[in-house]
Amino acid sequence: MKEAGDCKLEGASDGPINLFDLQVSADLLSACIHCGLCLPACPTYLATGQESQSPRGRIYAVMKSRDGNVKRALDHLSTCLGCLGCQTACPSGVQYESILEQVRPALAARRSWLARTAMRLFFRLLGNYGLLRLLFIPVRIVQRLALDRLPEALVRVAPFLKGTWLGRLASWRQFTPAVPVHKSLPPRLAGKAAMPGGEKSEQVQFFQGCVMDIFYNQVNHAAMKALAGAGLTCNLPRQTCCGALAYHAGDVDIARKLAKENMAHFENFGGEIVVASAGCGAMLKGYEHLFAEGEPERARAAQFSRRVKDFSQVMASHMPAAPKKSESRAGEAPRVAYHAACHLAHAQGVRAEPEAVLNRLAAEGCLKRVPLADAEHCCGSAGIYNLLNTELSLQVLEAKMDSLQASGAEVVVTANPGCLLQLEAGVRARGLNVKVKHLAELCQD
Ligand code: SF4
Ligand code: SF4
Repeated sequence: MKEAGDCKLEGASDGPINLFDLQVSADLLSACIHCGLCLPACPTYLATGQESQSPRGRIYAVMKSRDGNVKRALDHLSTCLGCLGCQTACPSGVQYESILEQVRPALAARRSWLARTAMRLFFRLLGNYGLLRLLFIPVRIVQRLALDRLPEALVRVAPFLKGTWLGRLASWRQFTPAVPVHKSLPPRLAGKAAMPGGEKSEQVQFFQGCVMDIFYNQVNHAAMKALAGAGLTCNLPRQTCCGALAYHAGDVDIARKLAKENMAHFENFGGEIVVASAGCGAMLKGYEHLFAEGEPERARAAQFSRRVKDFSQVMASHMPAAPKKSESRAGEAPRVAYHAACHLAHAQGVRAEPEAVLNRLAAEGCLKRVPLADAEHCCGSAGIYNLLNTELSLQVLEAKMDSLQASGAEVVVTANPGCLLQLEAGVRARGLNVKVKHLAELCQD
């Protein structure tokens, strides 16, 4: 095992930083009995071999921060993916998510004024879907003209630029897929049973998400079609960004504002709120925690969150019964592996339903399932982690790509836009002949 605390942290300032006290409740920390059973579930520990990059090491660093070494604690926490693999593995019930929630504002505070301002502008922009779509038109043009390769070319010619913002920009291109032409989602898609002459079908409200709709607009179309195919009438109410990226970056006030807007929009429509983006789903299900006891929004948020369901949860209970397996169809079926998004498996505890949907498709002969080792280990995407901690994110991705290559899969399926972006980056880098798809795309095929 390497010596703790020597990892070079991208984005961590070496200059004086405003370190306010880490206000982490003592009972959250004292629940840790330092057994180390979480270590094999922690992707940053597995990638680095450093105790300081493990859940136990991070909890210990926070405890020791009381002796004054807050910077060290924040350094270790800043490289945490927030994947919650440790929370699932912990036999002592350590609420690691709550610990992270309490330190995020301190992590945000040590970013430079410029970085904080740029991030706040970006998070506010995510809340304006119309403007966001407009801004991605020039991005698409830049990509079509291959001008997005320019920073990489400059860094190749002048390697000293690698440590500058240009070098960072160059490294981000690998996580950016081609932005598709955006096709607006239908305001309403009638369920099969609601077609002329049929019975009235159950109504659901669809949540599209900002990152999903910009980069994977086709997934949202597929999800709405699959829901309608399962007999549900799928509506698209007015909505805004869920606030997850702002919240995880420590901008709680922006997240609260977006949550209030979404609650107001969806309160006008009944039925379940269906989300195909696991990150958004986890955030929408946790809105209650954005508001303190006694705030009027807290009860409203709890009510709102009870209506939120992941796409797989709804499909698992509405897909028609599988017909008898067709051997001839099964012969051509692609080998499909499932990567469990952290925000679905660890944050929402949704595991059985995506498996059930995939098993149903396998029973229909549409695919052959192949196991993926460590399917619940994070791929390294983690919101904007891959942009902030690119080097470590890629180390984490390597382990996922090793598992994927060993599985022999022709398709890898997941449930979150961040995972789609990251897995595509890994597949491209290794030159694998593997398609990366969302579960909804298989349900629609
Ligand atoms: S977080 Fe849980 S599993 Fe990890 S060392 Fe502490 S008690 Fe053990
Ligand atoms: S949240 Fe993920 S990266 Fe962070 S300590 Fe836990 S397992 Fe490790």
